[in-house]
Amino acid sequence: MTKKEEPLLIGAHTSIAGGVYNALYEGHSIGATTVQIFTANQRQWNTKAIGEEDVKRWKEVLKETGLQKIMSHDSYLINLGSNKEDILAKSLTAFRQEIERCQELEITYLNFHPGSATGASEEECLDKIAESLISFEDQFLKKGDLRLLLECTAGQGSTVGYSFEHLAYIIGKVEKKIPIGVCIDTCHAFVAGYDLTSKAAVSSTLDEFDRVVGLKHLYAFHLNDSMKGLGSRVDRHQDLGKGEIGIECFKALMHDPRTRYLPKYLETPGGLESWKKEIALLRSI
Ligand SMILES: [Zn+2]
Ligand SMILES: [Zn+2]
Repeated sequence: MTKKEEPLLIGAHTSIAGGVYNALYEGHSIGATTVQIFTANQRQWNTKAIGEEDVKRWKEVLKETGLQKIMSHDSYLINLGSNKEDILAKSLTAFRQEIERCQELEITYLNFHPGSATGASEEECLDKIAESLISFEDQFLKKGDLRLLLECTAGQGSTVGYSFEHLAYIIGKVEKKIPIGVCIDTCHAFVAGYDLTSKAAVSSTLDEFDRVVGLKHLYAFHLNDSMKGLGSRVDRHQDLGKGEIGIECFKALMHDPRTRYLPKYLETPGGLESWKKEIALLRSI
């Protein structure tokens, strides 16, 4: 007797140009079963709320396309760990609006870059991030299942979140107050020093994650190959199989029962045609 398999949730970061719901259509057109979006312009502080009509349309298109576990990526400007008062204040306001837009669209995950230390120590920055996150506790009292996901970073400049220890530290401080988890970006983890170049390497990196953070906190992946080498701390995404990580990593993530059914979002530079092929490839593994 064959058991019906859970759906494989694989998608890419698609465009909301012309209306948020267009990202769902774009995903559907390339064979995606989930997508990641920006819910507003990711390079501006002042963002608009999503109009009522667009919200309605979004929910209809969600049903029509059958896409699941939609992820939102927060604005690049936000730094929840800033030690500069004005930046922190703007970041808190903007992140609150990010949460509101996600809840309105019934989005499952809000992925965010933890923060940047800019002058302060890493520990001070991590403490500030935890404090910022806890300040949103009231927004999770209403019903809905939005979860915030810390994205592991490449560790460029003064950004934190490049080690599993950083992620575990933040989670330990906030998990009783807000729904939190982790999204592993394969490019970021690799350039931060976690080897992913073979099945064995992927397996031991997952073991390491489990030991430090706990696999129950792992909810999603950003799938990207990397232009730069292991431990280089330089974030340059590459198409799957064409970078320093190589295709074995992505095969392993599709095979490993710990990661097979977790949603995966491509942020590779190839664009729509290339994503279509990458999605089909991942699905065939
Ligand atoms: Zn990413
Ligand atoms: Zn990146």
